[in-house]
Parts: sequence; C-alpha cells; structure tokens
Amino acid sequence: MLEHDVIIIGGGLAGCRAAVEIARKNPSLNVAVVAKTHPIRSHSVAAQGGIAATLKNVDSSDTWEAHAFDTVKGSDYLADQDAVEILTREAPDVVIDLEHMGVLFSRLNDGRIAQRAFGGHSHNRTCYAADKTGHAILHELVNNLRRYGVQVYEEWYVMRLILEENQAKGVVMYHILDGHVEIIRAKAIMFATGGYGRVYNTTSNDYASTGDGLAMTALAGLPLEDMEFVQFHPTGLYPVGVLISEAVRGEGAYLINSEGERFMARYAPSRMELAPRDITSRAIAYEIRAGRGIHPDGSAGGPFVYLDLRHMGREKIMSRIPFCWEEAHRLVGVDAVTQPMPVRPTIHYCMGGIPVNTDGRVRSSGDHFVEGFFAAGETACVSVHGANRLGSNSLLECVVYGRRTGAAIAEYVQNRKLPEINEQHYLSEAKQQIQALLDQSGQYRINQIRQTFQDTMTQFCGVFRTADLMGEGLQKLQQLQQQYSQIYLDDKGSCWNTEIIEALELRSLMVVGQMILASALNRQESRGAHFREDYAQRNDEKFLKHTMAYYSPAGIDIQYRPVTITRFEPQERKY
Ligand SMILES: Cc1cc2nc3c(=O)[nH]c(=O)nc-3n(C[C@H](O)[C@H](O)[C@H](O)COP(=O)(O)OP(=O)(O)OC[C@H]3O[C@@H](n4cnc5c(N)ncnc54)[C@H](O)[C@@H]3O)c2cc1C
Repeated sequence: MLEHDVIIIGGGLAGCRAAVEIARKNPSLNVAVVAKTHPIRSHSVAAQGGIAATLKNVDSSDTWEAHAFDTVKGSDYLADQDAVEILTREAPDVVIDLEHMGVLFSRLNDGRIAQRAFGGHSHNRTCYAADKTGHAILHELVNNLRRYGVQVYEEWYVMRLILEENQAKGVVMYHILDGHVEIIRAKAIMFATGGYGRVYNTTSNDYASTGDGLAMTALAGLPLEDMEFVQFHPTGLYPVGVLISEAVRGEGAYLINSEGERFMARYAPSRMELAPRDITSRAIAYEIRAGRGIHPDGSAGGPFVYLDLRHMGREKIMSRIPFCWEEAHRLVGVDAVTQPMPVRPTIHYCMGGIPVNTDGRVRSSGDHFVEGFFAAGETACVSVHGANRLGSNSLLECVVYGRRTGAAIAEYVQNRKLPEINEQHYLSEAKQQIQALLDQSGQYRINQIRQTFQDTMTQFCGVFRTADLMGEGLQKLQQLQQQYSQIYLDDKGSCWNTEIIEALELRSLMVVGQMILASALNRQESRGAHFREDYAQRNDEKFLKHTMAYYSPAGIDIQYRPVTITRFEPQERKY
C-alpha cells in the first residue's frame, strides 16, 4: 500500500494550487497529486478568457463589493454570500501571487496587468493572457509543483474513494500504463477532479471531463449539491461545440440572427452581448426556435446564429483573441476578420458539485463534515456560482479555494495518524471489477451506450425543461443502466487499455446524469441556468435553497439546505 500525508486527486488549477499551498505552509508534509491525464493536460489548460479580480488597473471605481454583488446577482441569488465575499476579497491577492510565481499576464502600456470586460461584470476586471489564460496559469503551477517536491502520479485513474464510518481513508487507483491496481492511504484526501461536460453530446469540455470525482462521492453515499444547474456557454463553435471565449464579446463582437439583427437588444437591452450566460444562451435558443437561426448555406431557419467580429478589425482580433480566430479558421474554415462565425450554446460548466464549506471540508449533510475529506475547484460546490456562474469567476474559484483548502489541509493533518485500511479487501474488489468488465460478453459497445446516454441528457434535460420531458429522461437512463451491465470490450489486454477507462468513465457519467435529472425534476421553478417551461418563474418562497441529492441504485433522495445571505437581499434580476 502506498502512503502520503496528503493525496490530491486532480492536477488542474484547483489541485495544483492546493498542493503548492500545503508545501508552502509545511514543507515537511509528504504531498502527492494523482491525475488520470498528465497534469498539464487537465481541462484548466484550455481556459481562455481570463480571471476576475478588482485590481482597478483599468477601472479605478471598481470594488470587491461590486464584484461580490455582480456574482450574487449572476447566481440568481442562490450563491452563499459568505463564500462570495471571500472569493472577491481574496481575488486581487491570489492574482498578484500568480504573477509572482511567473504567470505571464497581458499588460497595459504602463506595464500593469490588463483587464477586460466580461459578461455580467459591471466593471472591466478580468485579467488575462491573450485568450490562453488557463495555459499560462497551469504551466506555472505545475512548474511550482516540481519546485516544491510534490510527487505526481500521472495517468493513474482513481476508481474508488475509500470511506469508512464517515472517514475518508484513501483511494483505489488503476495504472493506465500497465493495468496495475494500487491503494493509497493518507491523512487527508482532496478531490479536485473537475467537471462533467461529457454528460452531454455537445460540450466545450475535454474528453476527461467525465465527473468521476462526483460519481465516486455519490457512490460512497455522500450528497451532491445543486446538480440541476448546468451552464450552457452561449458561443460554442457550430457544429463542433468547442468554445469561442466570452472574451470575444468582451472585446466587442456582436451576436446576430438570420435577419442581421443584434437580437440581444430584446433580451438584455442594457448589457446586450455581455449579459450573463444563462440569459444569452436562452436568447440564442429562442432565436433558433423562432426560425431566426441560420443554415450553413446562409438561409434562415437553421441551427446556429452568427458571432460577428468584422467591425473589430484584424489588428485587435489578432492581438487580443488570436486563439479564437485560429480555432474558427482551423475547425470550420472561417476567417473571422472577414466572415462571421457560426455559434450555438454548448455545455460548459457545472455549478453544482461536492458540498464543501469555505475551508474545502466536505459535508456529509447540511452541517456535518466527513473526516479527512476535502474538495475544491469545479467538482466542488462552495457555492460561489449558485444557479449561474459569471465568466472568469471559475479560474478565480480554483485559486482562491485551492489555496484556502490547501491551508486548511496543512493544519488538519498535523495531529492525525495514517488510517487503517484492509488493503486486500479493496484490492481484490477492484481487480474483480476490472476482470468482470474484461470477461463480459454482452451485446453493447461502450460508444453506442455513451452516445445514446449523451443524446438522452441533451434532449431531456437541456436548455428548456419540463416535468414530462425529465420524467421520460429518467426512465430512459434506467434502461441504459441495464444495458451497461451488458457491454463488450474489444481490448482484453492490460497495457494502455483505454476501453477499461472509457467503461469506468461511462459509469461516472451515468451516475452524474441521474443526479442532474433527479435534482432538476424536484426544483419546480426557473432560476439561473435551470429553466422550466412548466414553472417559468423564480420562486424564492419555496426554492431559495440548495438541493442536496443522495444517490442509491434504487433511486435518488432529495433534501435541501438553506442559502447564506449576508449583504444582498434577493431582487428581480434584470440586465
Ligand atoms: C474551453 C474552456 C474555457 C474556459 N475558460 C475559462 C475562463 O476563461 N475563465 C474561467 O474562469 N473559467 C474558464 N473555464 C472554466 C475553468 O477552466 C474550469 O472550471 C477550471 O479550470 C476547472 O479546474 P479544476 O482544477 O477544477 O479541474 P480540471 O482542470 O478539469 O482538472 C481535473 C483534474 O482531475 C483529474 N481527474 C479527473 N478524474 C480523475 C480520476 N478518476 N482519476 C484521476 N484523476 C482524475 C484530471 O486528470 C485533471 O488533472 C473554461 C472551461 C473550458 C472548458
């Protein structure tokens, strides 16, 4: 059995920032990061537009209170305001700290960090490195892991959380290289396993965003919070779904329909293209539904709208958002200097996740915590984004709460001993699970079930939801669940058997999908990204509360937890 003081699952921004903080706080602690990808291939590396902080370099009237208000209003008042205060107060400090680590932010002429406009933010406060911000930050953090001597287990797939009597003791992991299974125990375990975009058929997320951490937590009997809130990013490049950053609209691009109209004037007259993502995505979906979308041949009634940059000019496009230009050029042959880009909403971010407090401690219920278990980043729900996240607040969450969770863990493990684990029990169970997958002689290919599952989630729990649709969706998932026990793997080997990983990931996707659907069905109101055609209004009286969903194979139990309100009373949300 392997042992460390602390193990962090996930080598993205949240996991790496926590590891660096633990090493800074107590260099004698033995810290390891485990990731199923190489850390630098974590989805964080793909983040484009930027990270929000009130540095006041461009807009001296900005304040952390304004940032907090924008975030709470953006969340449709579901965010916990104590967590938002921490996020926005600590933002300038974490960004300056990143700069000191060596992150190459874009600059103003006077040398200070540049800041741009972003959807739902009332001031220009998003710091960026052109449109490759995640790349710039993650590379520096991973360099720092090496500098601090953190051990990295790369390309190990964690398949189970070992939780006994409300104490997290370790994980079971599978080495993708040679099929070898190991148990690691630790005094503290942190999940920083990212999001679940692959639950849907069109997403901006990478192939590894399969919600494994969420599924392992749910399968261990712990709750997941606010899973119904799934963010659609308004501008996924049609038809591939990859992201065209909000920075493009932040720098001045227009959204236009088949009639050449800037239709956002009808949905968010004061913020136009820079309204929050839930409102902008729904506006695009309405336009497409009303027949004002565009077909690839340019005629009306098609499946996308245009993102028009032409008035911005070549120089601005190439200096501020070169990567977005390149994506459209490479993937769909559009030169955005002279042609509009075809876009439609794409699944982008999960607001919900593993419930934690502001020190990253995982909740076993409303006010009780699991010993030795922490989480941060996209997989966690602290909750700073509530029902809808503002762009550039997620990288910020990863570094603010990665740092806080790291500090809390360094303190927590001080007087703790390594837990006892029955290694043989967990090893033989994991080996049997893998062998059963290899031995199965069913009739379904993984790809077939995954595609049907993703299409089902997209059709039955997408932008517009109703009880009938979601009820049908849940039934379909139950059928798919049965088919999962009859999958057939072509590869029977142990060396780089990616089919095994795909089979394990599909199990995660299906658990997460059920949690999303059940949570969405129970929330009989519309709030932020969760829009019910059968309950079109927000209902604070009944639903100003967080969903806590508990998984069991027999069904999902839904409970609720109150929202923390400190400064901003809920109001009607207008832009
Ligand atoms: C295209 C794109 C652009 C974005 N742009 C922005 C932006 O400009 N600003 C912003 O604020 N936010 C942006 N976001 C959101 C933001 O990038 C993410 O929310 C954030 O980076 C998530 O970081 P993380 O550390 O939580 O997880 P990730 O970076 O997703 O890392 C997850 C890690 O967990 C590991 N892992 C997962 N499962 C397992 C397992 N079973 N076993 C072992 N390891 C596992 C993975 O290997 C990986 O190392 C963007 C997102 C996308 C998809």
